[in-house]
Formats: sequence, structure tokens, C-alpha cells
Amino acid sequence: MFYNFYVPYSLAKVCICHVASERRCFFAGCAGMAVLRQAAFRKRVGMNLVDPIKSILKRGAESAKYKFSMIISMIAMVHVCLVALFAILGIFPMTLLNIGSVLLYATCHWAIRHDRDLRGVFYATYLEIIVQSFAATLCIGWRFGFPQYVIALVPFGYYMCHALMGNRRRYVIATVLGAAALVSFISCRILSMFFGPLYHPEVSEGVVLGIYIFNTLCNFGFLFIFTVIFLVEIQTATNQLQRQNEILDTMAHIDPLTELYNRRSMHTFLSDVQVARENGAFCLVMCDIDDFKKINDTYGHDTGDNVLREIARIVKSQVEGHGRACRWGGEEMLLLIYGDLEQAHRIAENIRCEVNSFVFCLGGRSIHCSITIGVALHREGDRIDHTITHADNNLYYGKRNGKNRVVSDMELKTG
Ligand code: GH3
Ligand code: MG
Ligand code: MG
Repeated sequence: MFYNFYVPYSLAKVCICHVASERRCFFAGCAGMAVLRQAAFRKRVGMNLVDPIKSILKRGAESAKYKFSMIISMIAMVHVCLVALFAILGIFPMTLLNIGSVLLYATCHWAIRHDRDLRGVFYATYLEIIVQSFAATLCIGWRFGFPQYVIALVPFGYYMCHALMGNRRRYVIATVLGAAALVSFISCRILSMFFGPLYHPEVSEGVVLGIYIFNTLCNFGFLFIFTVIFLVEIQTATNQLQRQNEILDTMAHIDPLTELYNRRSMHTFLSDVQVARENGAFCLVMCDIDDFKKINDTYGHDTGDNVLREIARIVKSQVEGHGRACRWGGEEMLLLIYGDLEQAHRIAENIRCEVNSFVFCLGGRSIHCSITIGVALHREGDRIDHTITHADNNLYYGKRNGKNRVVSDMELKTG
């Protein structure tokens, strides 16, 4: 693993030594070597660099304040490097300008921390970068690559307008600012053709290349950062939307009290079953809790709700893997059982037995309950409504004949 890193490490070391051999770049060379040694050390001891980056991105996606502070701090850090660079090159107007920029970003940082209007920070940053590229071109020419920073303004502008402005004009503003960045980039080039640089630092072509690469790396770094921030935010918003959709989906299909499917879902299942199971048998089973009104009247509505919830749990567990259970209305449940009359009758009988033997211990009270169930086989060519009425009729036959019973055509024939 370490050897994979060793080749690029050595190459970078040679490049830095070459650039630093120029005496004026001694400090820049030292800084570069320190960064490289640190990276090599981290690699050798196996430090994980991905997790901290992930956590920074995650924190940035959650807090706009944190994210903007990070962006501003990074731009300020580049300017700190530029202050050192221009001081070494002896170009004092640029050194002063960059010190001014560092102070500007410190103010921006303060404004972000104190919840000031971030549009001011955005416009100030935008203008500062354009001014810097013009000033650098004027002072030392085009070949050091300072105007490159203007390119990163385009995604930066769109991102900031999107994040900070709520109106529809925000993309128009971003496009106008992007066009301004393009114009200033081209203008810098033209300017460099007609006005020779005011300063001619005595540095080798290696140093010019080193500074050009530094500017390119910073510029690409910003482009990568804005792209990743955009992607992370899109992903975060998509995940949030998915979670909300799941909640809405549950709300649309599940009865909140019993957690059974609601009537609307059952209608969908019933129309699906007619299409998909044309050749397979299925039954409809109507359940109604016996004397439920009495439970409400005796123990109160809340206890009634808890009893209903418990019975729904029993029904759900018995139907699991055999069909669907829904709350049809009040304390009535309609079951769709994929199978013949015998199978549906057996499941209904299991439900009846379990409800009948269950002792509901609610608020220190023991409550016994029973349920009456009507079962009907769906006959080919029949309408679903007809089968539901058939199950309902069987249920009411059971109610009239003692309750706590399962009634199906099979039972009616034998009974
Ligand atoms: P039967 O044996 O004939 O079914 O008698 P019953 O008392 O259960 O009569 P019926 O089915 O007509 O009454 C249903 C009662 O269920 C009336 C209503 O107050 C109660 N109920 C309906 N929905 C709910 C609910 O969500 N929670 C509670 N606690 N009670 C409900
Ligand atoms: Mg009822
Ligand atoms: Mg009832």
C-alpha cells in the first residue's frame, strides 16, 4: 500500500526541490515538503482521510452556516498563501491587495457567524476574485495563471444564487454574473496583450510553472468542491423526499389505529386479484367484533381502541402469508384470502379461537372478547361487490345465531 504512494511522493519531492532551489522560494519549498511529509506519514500509519471528509460534507449539507464558513475559510487560506508568494516575489501592491482580501474574508466569516445577509458576502467574494485576476494580470502578466480563478466563479455563482435567493430571477442573476466572469476572463487576456506587466519578477520558468500549477490546483479544487457540495445536497434532498414519500405512502394505505390496510388499499387488492388470479380461487372474509359497543360503554372509548388494536394484531398475524387484511370500517375487518373455502374457513376459525381465548389486560382490567366471521368464496364471473355482500350475509347469519362463530357456505350446508 505504502509503495503505491511512494512513486508519486518521490516525484512530488523532486518537483518541490527543483522549485525550491530558487532561493526566493525557500519558504514555499519548505511548506510543500511539510505537506508531503504529513501526507506520507498519514498514509504510513493508515490514517483514514475519507471519513473526516464525509463528516465535513454531511455537516455542510445539514448547516448552511457551516458550509459557507468552510468555503470562505478555504478562499481565505488561498489568499494567505498568495500574500506569502507576492511578498517573496517582492510585488508589494499585490501583497497589500491580498492582505486586504484576507481581511475581507475575515469580515465575511464574521458576517456568516452573526447571521448577516449572505448575499453581501457572495457579491463581495465574486467582485474580489474578478478584481484579483485583473490586478494580478496587470502586475505580473497572464502566464502565472491568476485569471483562472474566474472560471470557478461560474459554478460558485449558480450555487450561491440557488442557495441564497428564493425568487425566480436567481438563475437570471447567476447567468448575468457568469457572463461577467467570462467577459473579465477574456478581458484579462486582451489586457495582457496590450499592457505589459508592471513587474518582472526574476524567477525561472520552473517557478512560473510552479505558481501556475498552484493556481490551477486551487481552481480545480474549488470546481471539485462545488460539484461535490451540489451532489451531496441533491442526494440529501432525494433521501429526504424518499423518506417523506414513504411516510405519505403509509398514511395513504395504512389505517393509523389498527395498522391494517385501509379500505382504499383493499379496493386496489380486490381489483388486482381479479386480474391476476383469474384461475386461482380466493375468498373474502368479513369480521365484526361482538358487542363492541358494550366494551366502549363499560370501559371507555380508549379501552375500546386498545381492544380493537389487539384484535387487529391477531388478525394480521393469522392472515400473514395467506392474503391481505384491512379495516373495512368501525370494528369491521375484511380479509382477502388467496385460497379455497376450506383454507379461508380454517384461518377464520384460528382468528375466532385466538380472539376468544385472549385476555385483554388493559388498565388493570381483564376483558374477554369474541368475534363473528362470515366467509364467502368468490365465484368466477361474479362481481366483487356480490362476494362482499355474500360474506356480510354469512356474518349476520352468525350474529343472529349466537355470535362468536365462523359462518361459510360450507358450514351452512353441514350445519
Ligand atoms: P354486534 O355484536 O352486533 O356487532 O354488536 P356491536 O356492539 O359490536 O354493534 P355494532 O357493530 O353496531 O357497533 C359497533 C360499535 O363500535 C359502535 C362504535 O361506537 C364502535 N366503534 C367503531 N369504531 C370504533 C373505534 O375506532 N374505536 C372504538 N373505541 N369504538 C369504535
Ligand atoms: Mg359493526
Ligand atoms: Mg360489532
